[in-house]
Amino acid sequence: MDHQELVALDHQYVMQTYGRFDVDIDHGQGATLYDLAGKKYIDFSSGIGVNSIGYGNQKWAEAITQQAMKLGHSSNLFYSQPYAQLARKLCERSGMAAAFFGNSGAEANEGMIKLARKYSYDKYGKGRGTILTLRNSFHGRTITTLTATGQDVFHNYFFPFTDGFRYAQAGSMDAIQEVAGHDVCAVMLELVQGEGGVLPMDPAYIHDLAVLCAERDWLLLVDEVQTGIGRTGTLFAFQQYGIIPDAVSFAKGVAGGLPMGGVLANERCRDILGPGSHASTFGGNPICAAAAGVVLDTLDEDTLVQVTEKGSYIRTRIEQMGLSSLGTTRGLGLMIGVEVKGEESNKELAARLIRNGLLVLTAGKALRLLPPLTISMEEIDQGLAILKETLV
Ligand SMILES: *Cc1c(COP(=O)(O)O)cnc(C)c1O
Repeated sequence: MDHQELVALDHQYVMQTYGRFDVDIDHGQGATLYDLAGKKYIDFSSGIGVNSIGYGNQKWAEAITQQAMKLGHSSNLFYSQPYAQLARKLCERSGMAAAFFGNSGAEANEGMIKLARKYSYDKYGKGRGTILTLRNSFHGRTITTLTATGQDVFHNYFFPFTDGFRYAQAGSMDAIQEVAGHDVCAVMLELVQGEGGVLPMDPAYIHDLAVLCAERDWLLLVDEVQTGIGRTGTLFAFQQYGIIPDAVSFAKGVAGGLPMGGVLANERCRDILGPGSHASTFGGNPICAAAAGVVLDTLDEDTLVQVTEKGSYIRTRIEQMGLSSLGTTRGLGLMIGVEVKGEESNKELAARLIRNGLLVLTAGKALRLLPPLTISMEEIDQGLAILKETLV
């Protein structure tokens, strides 16, 4: 099958929910991808933050293969080793107490929302189910996580949306106080807003927010679907903010390309979702859990230090290029936003870069770079060279 045949097949049989670039991806190695015709692409996108350890990782493929031969699925009615061992790894490295596994970011956030509402219900009864989220946030595509998302463009078509969310401008404690009330049980936020434009939160604001949450007995829920699993240079971004969330969601990068997501709860919240209160048929699937085990082992302390170093290298190099279409950079680790200036939009710039062999993302009005965390310096330099030649 060639590219045109594949595009025709997609258009005939697949719901056209995605505005795809006119590019197909066939296979990859490291942080380098190839299309059906054999054209090469350097990947600064990781399948939207998913392929955390790149493509063609031998240990990852072997762990998946071995687990598939042994047991592909068993249901959560029975104990099995892979999810339990994964939960231990996640808890030991994050300082959290217990994990729940699902299959995606939105599902993870749904679990976190349910946890917060049940915490409050158990303690105070009905009427305290409101969750405060931030303007410009992104929390997912289910009806409830769309409602949680603090961007009006997402609150369309699918009425009625779920009740119980109010929004505050990020960075301002006054804005939080304005929407606070006796009906609130939690605050949910991203520490670096991803889809919103790669916007890191001010540590002083996060500190003040954590103090307020403790005073009001609101749970502090951190959506680390994009920032988690090493993306920002620590296993979770909250570890750089000096806070201990009540619950943290994760997904995208955790299994290196297989679908998995989940929630980690701290000691006081570990038992809120008791037997019968929450479940997921595929959650903690043995193959996905085996893959995630390899991802976590690969992202050891040395590798995480390199995530920070590679991130600063990329940002410095881009700023030094002095390109007329790009401005300053921002972000944490290998989660990088680049300001777009000049005539062309971020989408137009991304389309040109992709045509020239560098896969990049957009977010808000910025270009967004999320390379695999294991990308080599050679691949980084090849990608930066394409950026420079394309955008001059
Ligand atoms: C991608 C993302 C989600 C949604 O994840 P899905 O796996 O697409 O459901 C939620 N929150 C954040 C911060 C994300 O970046």
